[in-house]
Amino acid sequence: MTVAAKTAKRQRAKPGAAIPSPQPTELLAWYDRHRRKLPWRAAPGRRADAYRVWLSEIMLQQTTVKAVAPYYVRFLARWPDIRALAATPLDEVLKTWAGLGYYARARNLHACARAVVERHGGKIPVSQAALRDLPGIGTYTAAAIAAIAFDTRVTPVDGNIERVIARLYAVDTPLPKAKAEISRLAQALTPPRRAGDFAQAMMDLGATVCTPKRPACALCPWNDSCAARACGDAETFPQRTPKREGELRRGAAFVARRADGFVLVRTRPPKGLLGGMTEVPTTAWTADFQEGNALKGAPHFPTSMSKRHVAWQRRPGVVRHVFTHFPLELTVYVADVAARAPAPTGTRWTGIAELAGEALPSLMRKVLAHALTSDRIRKIQPGKDQS
Ligand code: SF4
Repeated sequence: MTVAAKTAKRQRAKPGAAIPSPQPTELLAWYDRHRRKLPWRAAPGRRADAYRVWLSEIMLQQTTVKAVAPYYVRFLARWPDIRALAATPLDEVLKTWAGLGYYARARNLHACARAVVERHGGKIPVSQAALRDLPGIGTYTAAAIAAIAFDTRVTPVDGNIERVIARLYAVDTPLPKAKAEISRLAQALTPPRRAGDFAQAMMDLGATVCTPKRPACALCPWNDSCAARACGDAETFPQRTPKREGELRRGAAFVARRADGFVLVRTRPPKGLLGGMTEVPTTAWTADFQEGNALKGAPHFPTSMSKRHVAWQRRPGVVRHVFTHFPLELTVYVADVAARAPAPTGTRWTGIAELAGEALPSLMRKVLAHALTSDRIRKIQPGKDQS
């Protein structure tokens, strides 16, 4: 639907009453009074630093402000600029990222820092095309950096902004089909000046006022110009095509403890799900996993420590985890092996006391907590359900 057609629809939303068009200035005035104070934001009237904007935007991908804030502060203290980050080994970055989830972002963050140093002399580029050419930066993130760091006239459209626009214009096409239409409406509303503040104001409005449930329309600077509110059914927007759940996958995880205080781990391949992270050995995770065959996937200890001498014991219950595209259930087996036993090929021993410093994803923290409930590993708390 065109912007003109949307305007006509807005005028039909309430019989007998044309709805005024939303004005960017109304939102900006609200933002000046009610903006969220976030550690990566510049002080009022100051230009945001592109490195800080980029770092925060990568961390905020599919993650809440509350979860990101302490990680952002830690990263910035350790790597105050992009050259410092680029000069650090990936492993160190992954360790500092551990617990924040969606680990491909950490690998991309590191690759992007190196690309910015090599291709752009350490300066984050201004153009959205050049930004999109960098690892880990898609359309949304490029628009967010361009708007917030460089005041480019563009509004990045994430879930929060999608909701605000869908309600403001009562977009009745369901998502994801409505994405292009919502983006067009958002760009048409973006003012030529203060585009970065406008983008952040939209983010704040979506996060604090125009919430998914029970939006606080009485506090909204656009409550007179909102078509969904005029229809009396703001909460039903945006409309969505029902989602299909991913198929449940299952598998087994093996926690081998050595008598001298070590646990057997390995490093996942650098690419793909949880790439480069630390894990205990597991079987493949499949929809047709047969628990009766689980021990065939257990680590094979060499020579004198052959597998038949290692007594694997199944822990009661399962560990559940939800990745973006599928839920997972792992049964957990535990075995005690002799001190100084060599590690099977592709694995290594790590001290229980050192586990907290490993790049362990949330899933593996849950597995270890489940397996070693009476050990010091209890200190490693399960994190968020993220891939
Ligand atoms: Fe959202 Fe209500 Fe504001 Fe409309 S009036 S944009 S539904 S908060």
